[in-house]
Amino acid sequence: MAFVEVRDLVHIYNPGSTFEKRALNGVNFSIESGEFVGLIGHTGSGKSTLIQHLNGLLKPTGGSIVIDGEDIAGKDVKLADVRKKVGLVFQYPEYQLFEETIERDIAFGPKNQGLSADEVTERVKEAMNAVGLDYDDMKDRSPFELSGGQKRRVAIAGVLAMMPKLLILDEPTAGLDPHGRDEILQEIKDIFKKRDITIIVVSHSMEDIAEVADRIIVMTGGTVMMDDAPREI
Ligand code: ATP
Ligand code: MG
Repeated sequence: MAFVEVRDLVHIYNPGSTFEKRALNGVNFSIESGEFVGLIGHTGSGKSTLIQHLNGLLKPTGGSIVIDGEDIAGKDVKLADVRKKVGLVFQYPEYQLFEETIERDIAFGPKNQGLSADEVTERVKEAMNAVGLDYDDMKDRSPFELSGGQKRRVAIAGVLAMMPKLLILDEPTAGLDPHGRDEILQEIKDIFKKRDITIIVVSHSMEDIAEVADRIIVMTGGTVMMDDAPREI
């Protein structure tokens, strides 16, 4: 069985109301451990809905999701266990920052994993280093006074510090200038090379992602329209 297996996944928002919306309409794909996958598709095609399912944030209307041998759409699954394996950086990562200092923000996840204070500090340093933030310069600053690109880096570091097996980034280059975009993609690529990790990066644009991903999944209207190597799409 593949590392990630999504079968016939359906998601309906607000079922039975006038705002009912079938956002996922039978999604199927699998991902092998260690793959770097780009997930692309137009606005409203269901990308964010899909990855929230992979992190256990939404309950499927139908279908199944197995990650690392565990059915995370099942009834008995503990969200805390899913989060240990799957790290998600949201499309608007400022909503993921809530502590007074950058250090405390990034330390929040590893602290909850029951690590010692020294181990937590090691994780924070390593994660900040991976996203190009200088630990000594930045650790005591407030995450709220940062630029959009820096906030995104802190949010990515916070998820990396938990050492997930699957890292999902929703539009990590949104709102960045071309330079910031290239930098973030390069850093994600470096993280991918250095660690034993599987990565899904959501993007609006094929251009951004084709260079870094092994495989591209294209969504249209809540289903997978294409799933192939970048050069084949
Ligand atoms: P974008 O590229 O703009 O981020 P997306 O591919 O991530 O788009 P989703 O956010 O998954 O798309 O949305 C899929 C569909 O579900 C859209 O039609 C959207 O309007 C609808 N939708 C998303 N979130 C909700 C919600 N909380 N309640 C109701 N409908 C929703
Ligand atoms: Mg989205």
